[in-house]
Amino acid sequence: MSETRVIRDYNSHNCYFKPMHETAEKDQRIDMGNPKPEMIEIFELQKKKALELRKTSARERIRMLKDLKEWMLDHQPELQKALYEDFKKPIPETDLTEFYLVKAEINHAIKHLERWMQPRKVATPLPLIGSQSTVRYEPKGVCLIIAPWNYPFSLLVAPFVSAIAAGNTVMLKPSEMTPQTSSLIKKMIAELFPIDVAVVFEGGIEISTQLLELPFDHIFFTGSPSVGKIVMGAASKHLTSVTLELGGKSPNIIDETANLKDAVEKLVFNKFLNAGQTCVAPDYVFIHSSKEHEFLDLLKSHVTKVYNDNEEDLAGIIHRKHFDHLEGLLTDALDRGAELVYGGQSDKNDLRMEPIILRNINETMKIMEEEVFGPIIPVLNYDSLDQVIDFVNVRPKPLALYFFSRKKANIKRILKETSSGTACINDAVIQFTNNNLPFGGVNSSGMGKSHGEYGFKTFSNAKGVLHQRVGFTSVSVLYPPYTKRVRKYIELLLRWL
Ligand code: NAD
Repeated sequence: MSETRVIRDYNSHNCYFKPMHETAEKDQRIDMGNPKPEMIEIFELQKKKALELRKTSARERIRMLKDLKEWMLDHQPELQKALYEDFKKPIPETDLTEFYLVKAEINHAIKHLERWMQPRKVATPLPLIGSQSTVRYEPKGVCLIIAPWNYPFSLLVAPFVSAIAAGNTVMLKPSEMTPQTSSLIKKMIAELFPIDVAVVFEGGIEISTQLLELPFDHIFFTGSPSVGKIVMGAASKHLTSVTLELGGKSPNIIDETANLKDAVEKLVFNKFLNAGQTCVAPDYVFIHSSKEHEFLDLLKSHVTKVYNDNEEDLAGIIHRKHFDHLEGLLTDALDRGAELVYGGQSDKNDLRMEPIILRNINETMKIMEEEVFGPIIPVLNYDSLDQVIDFVNVRPKPLALYFFSRKKANIKRILKETSSGTACINDAVIQFTNNNLPFGGVNSSGMGKSHGEYGFKTFSNAKGVLHQRVGFTSVSVLYPPYTKRVRKYIELLLRWL
């Protein structure tokens, strides 16, 4: 008889016996670190509940989404207050980027969920004639969503909408850097969902690390590339699928044909939104040399017009460490020859930094090595589009690329000859808000897609199902014994089909 050992199985509430040779892999779960007992218990409850949720109809899932939207509508002022307390986020920006974006994601899912859930027929190749094939989207099961601080509500709740629409149970980990918003989300989820459907675990790295020990069916992580690697490493232990929404340096390129006034107005809004702490913010500007002076004059005067007497319209910097990091990038750039075109005033105690524009930038500066993630625009110039394309292509693939131009041939070249998670022509950031577009990075800026139907598919397993006829079929003629006739059929198949 084979040796038996007791192992703890997360699929059930019980311990059970298994032959030793079958436990080799599962044994590793015993050493999975130390998730808190209540975490494991909730995980087990969710695992059980996930089997029920997979049977839910579009109507039942839509009910959950409608409850979520209603709660948000009832608590809008609380959300505004929480985000202001966390990092002085201006109320209009909270309404647009936290409230509206999630509401739009919910509305979009409500409108299309029934269709997304339908099995989709696919064509049948000739050798399989007589059968029927469909793709069925089934929920993955128990999912983990980990979010960053910069859009602490929308970057946690929008993927949650996709996960619920797809029929999963969810464990959520908001950022510890935004305690007011995180605790409001915890309250929202607790009021709307039983813990076996959705639950929030507040806390920092320790809680995240414990959660990552659990054998989830999918992990959706938004945050920095360095933590993304840790998440992927943890997921690999259980072969859990991951979506990584990461960051990077998104270029904002303006060619000699662009409407400069238009490009400047759009740049200022999209760069200084959330004080530059946006994953898809234009990170640096590449301007055609012939237009640099005109561009900088327009940029300076527009920034002055927008922010000079309206300090409150610019969000604060999230915390002291990040503030010091931004000051470090600025000092390093100035030490290495950058020219300060605008700004430079900051209030360390209040964690406020006014918009900063730098020119005479070179590649040795730290500001060109790291994601800026703050209200600083480094401006570089170029003479030929080849230069820009080469510059982008030798660096990690960005999350977004922005190109301002009125020349079709240039637009075509940029789109074809560079790679980025997303791109936007003659504007920036707003590609994020179209739910019909996939959102996500590529390589170091991320993997997997979110938003709308892409989000639904991310949290689903696309199951390929072939339904064969009973009895004789087109495939039966190929069965052994491999007589002369069967061999002839195989020959025909290879030659003609
Ligand atoms: P972060 O990676 O430091 O933290 C993100 C989350 O991971 C937090 O919940 C945090 O608690 C957790 N975490 C941190 N260290 C961990 C560790 N060692 N092990 C396990 N979990 C850990 O990111 P951040 O500072 O909150 O956010 C800024 C970054 O997020 C930027 O790089 C930005 O570009 C990126 N971002 C990407 C997107 C996107 O959609 N692609 C959106 C927003 C932000």
